[in-house]
Amino acid sequence: MNDPSPSERQAHSAARRYPRQEAVASCPACGEPAGRNYRQCPDCTDAVDRIWYADWHASLTTEQIAAGSQDEQLFAQVVFAEYDRHPWTVVDIAMTLIRCSQCGCELGGGPRDCPSCVIAFGSPMQSEWTAGQLGLVTRNEHALHIGRWVLRYPHRQTDKTLSGWRFSLPILLAGAEPPSAKVVQVMQPLILAGREDEAARMWEQERLRGKGLQLPWFRSQTP
Ligand SMILES: [Zn+2]
Ligand SMILES: [Zn+2]
Repeated sequence: MNDPSPSERQAHSAARRYPRQEAVASCPACGEPAGRNYRQCPDCTDAVDRIWYADWHASLTTEQIAAGSQDEQLFAQVVFAEYDRHPWTVVDIAMTLIRCSQCGCELGGGPRDCPSCVIAFGSPMQSEWTAGQLGLVTRNEHALHIGRWVLRYPHRQTDKTLSGWRFSLPILLAGAEPPSAKVVQVMQPLILAGREDEAARMWEQERLRGKGLQLPWFRSQTP
């Protein structure tokens, strides 16, 4: 694979402006691992979304658009229309600013049977896929992308899926690579049974065997 050009990097690198925590943090507001109560607790929400908004605000600065302005709304529409030309984090935020014309929810996050939301959900995934083709998506970034979508729109998910991601997201915020599918299979019943320490240990053991989680994942401040 050829190295991406500087302009490709700028257009497709995502989630790299805000460095990951050194370790799983405890949320000052809810006391749970930071990020677990995404969308239910403001501090947990910020622990996740600040990674996304760092990219969004950088795009606004480039376009000389003020946050909260009418132009920001228009920019969101443009980004969604040109999803292949923007970082996936920026596409995600654009979609939180757009209302679905069919169900009125955040675009992509409406009821499971809203056809417009189902179709719209393909755009941020396509944006990430394009970046992945350029070698610009780490496994940590991919997992964070999915995790935010799952926890942002929990009504679209099963309880089992939600419990898995509530457990995983704080660890991913500390830079972990996601565990292998095999380890996830073993972790899942432990998480459901409230035996999270054991599940976390399995994840860590896989890292120590040189698979799965890799630290430090990425420390650069620039995209
Ligand atoms: Zn919290
Ligand atoms: Zn919809």
